[in-house]
Amino acid sequence: MLRFAPSPTGDMHIGNLRVALFNYIVSKQKKEDLIIRIEDTDKQRNIEGKDKEILDILNLFGIEYSQTIYQSENVRFHTAMALQLIHDKKAFSCFCSTEWLDKKREEAKASKKAYRYDDACAKLHPELVIDNTNPFTIRIKKANENIITKDRIKGEVTFKPDDVDSFIIMRQDKTPTYNFACAVDDMLSDISIVIRGEDHMSNTPKQDHIRGSLNYAKKIEYAHLPIILNTDGKKMSKRDDASSVKWLLEEGFLPQAISNYLILIGNKPPKEIFTVDEAIEWFDLEKISKSPARFDINMLRHINHKHLASLEPKELSRYVGFADEEIGKLAKVYLEEASTTKELKNKIKTIFSSKEIPQEFKEATIILIDVIKSAPYFEAYDDFKKYLMQESGLKGKNFFKPLRYILTGSGNGPDVSELYKYLKNYIGEIVK
Ligand code: GLU
Repeated sequence: MLRFAPSPTGDMHIGNLRVALFNYIVSKQKKEDLIIRIEDTDKQRNIEGKDKEILDILNLFGIEYSQTIYQSENVRFHTAMALQLIHDKKAFSCFCSTEWLDKKREEAKASKKAYRYDDACAKLHPELVIDNTNPFTIRIKKANENIITKDRIKGEVTFKPDDVDSFIIMRQDKTPTYNFACAVDDMLSDISIVIRGEDHMSNTPKQDHIRGSLNYAKKIEYAHLPIILNTDGKKMSKRDDASSVKWLLEEGFLPQAISNYLILIGNKPPKEIFTVDEAIEWFDLEKISKSPARFDINMLRHINHKHLASLEPKELSRYVGFADEEIGKLAKVYLEEASTTKELKNKIKTIFSSKEIPQEFKEATIILIDVIKSAPYFEAYDDFKKYLMQESGLKGKNFFKPLRYILTGSGNGPDVSELYKYLKNYIGEIVK
């Protein structure tokens, strides 16, 4: 079983979508199920509706999953496991106040040492623990041997016992901490491999240690994906528009192109343009680069352009707001100068809107519009052109430029002779 475990705390980031895609691909390769676990235990950070938005995005990207689990529904298991650990003397109640712990943390910082909990409450008398009505957290006892994790991208990673102190697994309000809930849930769902972002690397020994303390014999494998950098070489953050999947979709990037791009970066695919189904055939986690991937919007535009070009005209027409083969063919011609559905849509919209004509062609335009309005239907552009020239008396630049403006709303662009093939049935709507 594999899992994708988003927190419903904001817009879906491309890094998360990349994690979801990799989980999906590997689940298909291993012929194991993929579950979605909404990590909603931190109530203060949850944003209403974000869970649905994430699931909608997964559906749009064709990421199939067998089940959705809300982590908050597992709290009774988290509590039971915490009690089990206390019973086994592998966890203890900690009465240290937040102020006290903050003070210790400051002291560690001042002496330039990494803060570790000093185990002050680890050996308290059990009676004191049971009778006490003061607020307390539950801490798991620190590891006393190395914790070794197998990472499919980073190789074998060894953590020393001192890398992990006796950390909190249940807060004062008896809600589980992220590490505890996550470690227990991965165990309960019988996860075989966890694929997630590199920012979780430091949580891995803690989660491994929790399961070890619960006597879970199975070793879960990991794959921590390197972060994605922006063009300035900094981590892609919320401030980078392109980090939001929603933004990319609104800008007119196709889901299949975004997927293609996210599988391509930091990887060595056998070809540049592919579908997720094709990637399932050759994808190899071990080939993912250990160093950060770099986001390049121009490369994404190039890939989007290729995917747009491979669409059937009818399908392409839907992306620009029509359901018409001819408009799809027209849009194909405009792919000469557009790389997103938003840009294509604007081009097509300009054709059907009222047009801005430059002053120098205004007079000729008025004459030409009159002629076009009373012209019969012409199948061939040459006949149409001949008729218009004859009736208007216009020629050369004074004929061709106004004609282009009237038909397309622009002074340059694809050949009018090429466009006419797809516009001829719409002349009445275009020239008003
Ligand atoms: N909920 C975590 C996040 O969105 C992911 C945790 C995990 O994959 O283990 O970053």
